[in-house]
Amino acid sequence: MSQKIEFGRNLKIYWGYLRKHKWVAFGMFLAVFFTEIAALFEKLAFKLIVDRGNEWVAETITKSALMSSLLIALAVFAAVVVVRVIGKWFFVSCINRLAIRLTFDLKESLFNHVIGLSHHFHTSHRTGTLISKITRGGRAMEKMTDLLGFNVAPMIIQIAVSVSSLMYFSLEPAIIVLLVFVIFVAHSLVLQRYQQRANIAAIASEDYEKGQISDLFTNIDSIKYFGKEQNVMRRFKKIIHVTCRKMLLFWDYHRISDAGHFFILGVGTIALLYFSLRSFVNGEITIGTVVFIYTIFGGIVHDMFGFVHGIRNFYDVMADFQSIFSYFKVENEVKDISGAKNIRIREGGVEFRDVTFAYHGKPLLKNFNFTIKPGEKVALVGPSGSGKSTLIKLLYRLYDVNHGAVLIDGKSTLEFKQQSLREELSVVPQECVLFDDTLYNNVRFSSPRSSPANVARALKFSQLDKVVATLPQKERTIVGERGVRLSGGEKQRVSIARAILADKKILVLDEATSALDSQTESDIQKDLQRLMKGRTAIIIAHRLSTIMQADKIVVLDKGKIVQMGRHNQLIKQKGLYKKLWNLQKGGYIK
Ligand code: ADP
Repeated sequence: MSQKIEFGRNLKIYWGYLRKHKWVAFGMFLAVFFTEIAALFEKLAFKLIVDRGNEWVAETITKSALMSSLLIALAVFAAVVVVRVIGKWFFVSCINRLAIRLTFDLKESLFNHVIGLSHHFHTSHRTGTLISKITRGGRAMEKMTDLLGFNVAPMIIQIAVSVSSLMYFSLEPAIIVLLVFVIFVAHSLVLQRYQQRANIAAIASEDYEKGQISDLFTNIDSIKYFGKEQNVMRRFKKIIHVTCRKMLLFWDYHRISDAGHFFILGVGTIALLYFSLRSFVNGEITIGTVVFIYTIFGGIVHDMFGFVHGIRNFYDVMADFQSIFSYFKVENEVKDISGAKNIRIREGGVEFRDVTFAYHGKPLLKNFNFTIKPGEKVALVGPSGSGKSTLIKLLYRLYDVNHGAVLIDGKSTLEFKQQSLREELSVVPQECVLFDDTLYNNVRFSSPRSSPANVARALKFSQLDKVVATLPQKERTIVGERGVRLSGGEKQRVSIARAILADKKILVLDEATSALDSQTESDIQKDLQRLMKGRTAIIIAHRLSTIMQADKIVVLDKGKIVQMGRHNQLIKQKGLYKKLWNLQKGGYIK
C-alpha cells in the first residue's frame, strides 16, 4: 500500500526524539565542527607553504624566514592530525550513542503505544507486520541519525566555514561556491524525485513480469494442448519490452543526474578559476590563495556527493517513518475518563443496565438488562453468535456500550481505569496460550508480586504439582512454543492456577469446546468448582455438568435473553434451551 509521505510531520516526530538527547547531538555537531575547522587550517597551512615558497624563489624573503614559516605549517599539520583523531573518536562515540538511544526510545514508545491500543485493533491487525515494523522503526532511526551525522552536518558546517573563509580573501569565489552548492543540491533533489518514481515503476513492471511468468507456467498444459506457444512468446516479448523500457528510463535519469552534476561542477570550476586568477593577475590575491580557493572547492565537491547519496537514503527513511509513525495516529477507541479511579471489587455484583451496543454500526444488544448477585454462578448459554462473548467483552470494557451502563458493585465501569478494572477480573479462557517462559513465570503472570510459596500453592490447587514432578527442571522448565509442550488439559490447569493466584472476586470461565478425555475433563470440572467457590462466576457454558450446577442459566439468542432459570425448570419448558439440550452431542453445546 503506497502512502503519501508527510515529510513535515515525520521530521517533527524525529525532532521530538532527538530533542531528548540534545547534548549528545550537540557533541556530535561540535566534533564535526572542529574536524571541519582542522581541515580549513590544513588548507591554510598549504597556502602558507605555496606563498612563502614563491617568495623565496623570487628571493623576497630570507631562508630563515622561509624555514620558520615551514615550521609553522608543520606544527599546524601536526595539530590537525591531533584534532582529527580526537574529533573522529568523539564523533563516533556521540553518533553511536545517539543512534542507540533514539532506536531504544522509538522501539519503547512504539511498543508501549501499540500494546495500549484496543483489543479490536489487535484482533484486526497482523502481529507479524507489527513485529517487523518495530524492528524497521529502530533501523530507520539509526539511518536518519547516520544521515544527519555523516551527510547533513558535515555539508552544512563545511559550507558555512568555507564560504566565510573565502569571503575573507575574495568575495566572488565565495559567491560561486555558494551558488554551485545550491544549484547542485537543487538539481539532485529534483532528479531524485523522478528517479524514485521511475524506480518504483520499474520494480512494479518486474513484479508484473514475474507474476505473468508464473501464470504462464501454471497454465502450461493449456498452452501445449492448444498449441499456443507462439502467442505466449509474443505476449511475453511485449511484457519484457515494457520492463526493459522502464529500466532504461530509470538508468537514463542516472545519466541525466550524473551529467548534470559534472556540468554544474565544471562550470563552477571554470568560473572559480577565472575569477581567482583574474584577482591574482591584478595583484589582489597571492598564488597561495588561488590554491587555497581551489582546494576548498575540492573538499566541498567531495562532501556534496556524499550529501546527494544521503538524499537517496532520506527518501527511504521518510517512507519507513511514514509507515511506522502512522501507528501513532491510531488511538485507543476505549478511553479512560479524566479522573478515572482504580477499582477494588469487594462484593462481585454485576449489572448490565439498559445496555445498547452495536459493533461498528451492527446492532447486537438493545436495552439489555441483567443482574448477577455477588457469589452467584451464572451460565450463559446460546447458539454461536448469540452474544455470550460480547457480554464478557463489555464487562471487561474491551468495547464501550453505546447506551446504558455495566455496573460492578453498583458503580459504572466507566468510572474506573481500564487497566485496574481488568486487573480486578479473573479469567479462565477457552484455550490458554503460554509464554515462552518457565512454568513458574507463566503461572505468576497473573500476579507478578506473588511469593514462591503462593505460586507453589496455586500449582498444587490446580494439580499441576504432579505435572511439575515429571518436568526436567521442575517448575523452572521452559514451556510454550519453544519449550516443553503441555497438553490441552495441562494448559487449562495453568489457567486455573493463574486464576486462583490472582484471587479475584469475579471469575469468567470460557469453557473449552474441544474435547478433553473424560477423566481429565471430570478432574478439571472438580477443580473449577473449587475455584468458583466464594466468587461470582460467569460461565460461557458448553459443558452439561457446569450448566446443571449453575445458580442461574441465561439463554441468549441474537443478543436477547430468551429464557432464564435453573436447569430443571428450563428443561421442562418449551423453548430454545430444550432444543439446545436435545441437540447436544457428547455433552457439548456447540
Ligand atoms: P457468541 O459468543 O455467543 O458466539 P459473540 O458475542 O461472539 O457471540 O457475537 C455476537 C455477534 O456479534 C455475532 O453476530 C458476531 O458476528 C458479532 N461480532 C462479534 N465480534 C465482532 C467484532 N469484533 N466485530 C463485528 N462483529 C462482531
